[in-house]
Amino acid sequence: MNTEELETQVKKRRTFAIISHPDAGKTTITEQLLLFGGVVRSAGTVKGKKSGTFAKSDWMEIEKKRGISVTSSVMQFDYDDKRVNILDTPGHEDFSEDTYRTLMAVDSAVMVIDSAKGIEPQTKKLFQICKMRGIPIFTFINKMDRDGREPLDLMAELEEVLGVESYPMNWPIGMGKGLKGLYDIYNHRIELYQKEDKGINYVDLNDAGEIEGDHPLKEDSIYQEVLDEVELLGDAGNTFDEAKIATGDLTPVFFGSALTNFGVKTFLDIYLNYAPAPQEHKTIEETLIEPTNEHFSGFVFKIQANMNPNHRDRIAFIRICSGEFERGMDVKLARTEKKMRLSNSTQFMADSREVLESAVAGDIIGLYDTGNFQIGDTISNLKKPITFEKLPQFTPELFMSVNAKNVMKQKSFHKGIQQLVQEGAVQLYRSYNTGDYILGAVGQLQFEVFQFRMLNEYNSEVIMTPMGSKTARWIDPEQLDEKMSSSRNLLVKDRQDLPLFLFENAFAERWFADKYPDVKLTSKL
Ligand code: GDP
Repeated sequence: MNTEELETQVKKRRTFAIISHPDAGKTTITEQLLLFGGVVRSAGTVKGKKSGTFAKSDWMEIEKKRGISVTSSVMQFDYDDKRVNILDTPGHEDFSEDTYRTLMAVDSAVMVIDSAKGIEPQTKKLFQICKMRGIPIFTFINKMDRDGREPLDLMAELEEVLGVESYPMNWPIGMGKGLKGLYDIYNHRIELYQKEDKGINYVDLNDAGEIEGDHPLKEDSIYQEVLDEVELLGDAGNTFDEAKIATGDLTPVFFGSALTNFGVKTFLDIYLNYAPAPQEHKTIEETLIEPTNEHFSGFVFKIQANMNPNHRDRIAFIRICSGEFERGMDVKLARTEKKMRLSNSTQFMADSREVLESAVAGDIIGLYDTGNFQIGDTISNLKKPITFEKLPQFTPELFMSVNAKNVMKQKSFHKGIQQLVQEGAVQLYRSYNTGDYILGAVGQLQFEVFQFRMLNEYNSEVIMTPMGSKTARWIDPEQLDEKMSSSRNLLVKDRQDLPLFLFENAFAERWFADKYPDVKLTSKL
């Protein structure tokens, strides 16, 4: 591919994460988007969860059983001359770490909000991360086919709670049983609400922003109310500002109903217009790598074992940051300086995949991994090696000691633990003296998923003994004296064999600091 072609291809890419509080409708809207991309024939998420056919993005066994998304999956489709990469994320806060890492791999985010609930805790947290990173956020206020909160209320909450400006791209005309349509401020038209099989019906507006001539809607008192509200928004609200959208300082807001596919196409069309194409990426060497750089580079943001239980394989997900990927190309892994040939690549449609021959900056590729990769790894064929900025890592707060129930099955127990830990599903520590396994996590559900997967994928029944919440503090190995350890500050080592203490509580930590004033402890690696 020559430079010009690469530029054209990169400009077509839209790579985004779809995030929400659980149950806001993320899976439903994802399915509708895929339908527009011609990917799946019938949506039916909700029916699916009950009847046994599941949303394409919820493929893991445990997700099916519990009806929640626990890992992020990747989907790709073409629409309107764009190549769209959607990264689904787990909604439950116990899997925030996975979501945060995914946010490092995208150029924008779509936030789905339940109109009856407004801003929920998980929404707030995710919004803040996006803002911190300057990721443009597009908001879809969902479930307008149900009675929800007043739109003006929701907009005010968005600004107050999230500290970000908002701009309504459209405005609902009624809600619940009284939903009549959307006043499309951006496209200057009204989109009438009707069941999806009837197709989309628009009514144009005149210069004054009203329906010209006779129309049944004009008889409805709600129509006049909406005209007043829209006028108010125009006078007192924020102005549409593309530059602010690009920096994440203003979020365009769309109303709609994912379930009845109302307002979703309007959203997608405008979104693709304003969502940024792939952006440059920072390296720890303080350089910026442009997506159109002729050399290939990318980083691993996720590792997933056993995506296909029949094959027992492991896949490293790579966000391509620059250049073009070609199957069979040689790259260098920055951490080990090891050369490798990328011959085993795949692209995703949730549970189906195809061998991938080429991809460009912005795309997500999957590489079959035999244990070479770690989360956060950079690969490239740049002449001067680079390493992309570190992915956020969370210090675990909950701990469990873990053993194999059947001592005869140690082999599968160890294998399972090693693989799931490499995925970043949980953190692994070992007791300093006995070498016993201790798992650390940010949320309780991570343990449950671990236990379930150990049994299901490695046929290893594990016994987990809760150790409660602890504070992890690393100590310089030079300063370590094993006598410092007690029942209140358990001495363990991490995967890199670095020593750390697990403090029972703040009191135990202070006590330690008083006793060893010269010892410096750190909260992160
Ligand atoms: P997720 O947890 O965010 O992925 O949410 P889902 O897409 O699984 O949706 C959660 C529930 O809300 C399901 O029962 C959906 O049928 C329902 N739902 C999603 N979108 C809508 C909508 O637009 N209107 C209504 N009434 N229900 C919806």
